[in-house]
Amino acid sequence: MQQMIYYTIMPDGTVKQVNPFTGTEVWAVGGRRNRPVSNGTAQEPKPIERHDPEDYCSFCGSRYFEVAPEKSRLVRRGDSWERLDFLPPDKYFETTAEFRRVGNMFEIVSLDYWRRNYAYKMTHDRQRWKEDYLANPKGLAHITDIVRYKLRQEGRTEEQIEKIPMAEQLAIADAFFGGGHEQIIARRHYVPGAKVDADLYSSGEMKEDEHFHYFKMTIDALRDISVTNRYVRYISVFQNWLRPAGASFDHLHKQIVALDEWGSSIQNQIRMVRADPNVFNDLAANFAAHHNLIFAENDFAIATAGIGHRFPTIEIFSRSHSGRPQEHTDDELRGVSSLVHAIHAAMGSRISCNEEWYYTPLDAIYKMPWHVLIKWRITTAAGFEGGTSIYINPITPIELRDRLVPRLYQFRDEGKVGWLRIAEECHVDPNPLKYYLK
Ligand SMILES: [Zn+2]
Repeated sequence: MQQMIYYTIMPDGTVKQVNPFTGTEVWAVGGRRNRPVSNGTAQEPKPIERHDPEDYCSFCGSRYFEVAPEKSRLVRRGDSWERLDFLPPDKYFETTAEFRRVGNMFEIVSLDYWRRNYAYKMTHDRQRWKEDYLANPKGLAHITDIVRYKLRQEGRTEEQIEKIPMAEQLAIADAFFGGGHEQIIARRHYVPGAKVDADLYSSGEMKEDEHFHYFKMTIDALRDISVTNRYVRYISVFQNWLRPAGASFDHLHKQIVALDEWGSSIQNQIRMVRADPNVFNDLAANFAAHHNLIFAENDFAIATAGIGHRFPTIEIFSRSHSGRPQEHTDDELRGVSSLVHAIHAAMGSRISCNEEWYYTPLDAIYKMPWHVLIKWRITTAAGFEGGTSIYINPITPIELRDRLVPRLYQFRDEGKVGWLRIAEECHVDPNPLKYYLK
């Protein structure tokens, strides 16, 4: 009965939960549950004026030069997808990018961090790319523009910027070419036929195949960063959807941040795997199965309503033997992507959320399964939480499950999501996660 401590339903319906992996204590309290769930924006959607091509923000397709130079883009040719790396700037508008991979102009962990702390040097390839880019008049104009923009954003005046020598300005641009904080930007801002500002293009609005390529592009970037900077130990992957979740643009994108440590959360999870190699089955998959919290699965992944999260959270676990996304086969990757996509589709595009990836660090010898958490950012912690360290989640795991299940059936019937087993159709075999096997 040790599991009792993690998940207790009280006679009045209060659900007390402790997250087995983080120790976070959460209550879903009866009564408060009935409060309406909003996406946190609370505003009435406003009508929009349609622009074609889209030009609503710096991530939009007609404004390719407002972000850092493109490391890669994915273009569609009929049914096939092609990746173009290091496209010369005068060719940006010759094709339409379905996804673009660019450096983040405002890095969390900067290129200088790696340089100063590790004597990191940009690879020859990146150095040459930078030189070629600057030798191109369009490229030089692009770089000087965005360096000035960055300096203005950081509070410098025009006068101060004028005084910065060109060489110094171009040195600032090194981060755009060789940094380890990147973004994967989706093509669309709004859904086709959008009428109001809330008709944004989210992960769930994609076709299943498009979502697979979004995942694959992200993982290609992750693999590339791990090869180009040997000091990297973990690469954080996340997606902030809408402003309450921390997004600076309402335009779909993922972020990738290279780190020289694992972070306490991963460190703790690896420690648990070391003590009990099967812990992610014991305390995640099998535990969820016993409490009827696994509500969707396919042959490559399972989805559960998570317990002990401050926000309503769906957890998607890969069943693969591999503990890192970059080691997954295309079939496995497609399976995980498909389930994540189905969850986004079922929740709709108006709920603000974080998508967070967790997986085995580059230098870990103990494997943990790749899993993706989707956290609904619909509440704000208040004084009660601060004083007690008990968090109030407005939705119980069962309610979260029951909210998504009917929509999954509907979308599966309509062919909007990939093939999956839903609710009681799930097999819930014991130990469904295979990461612990060689
Ligand atoms: Zn946009």
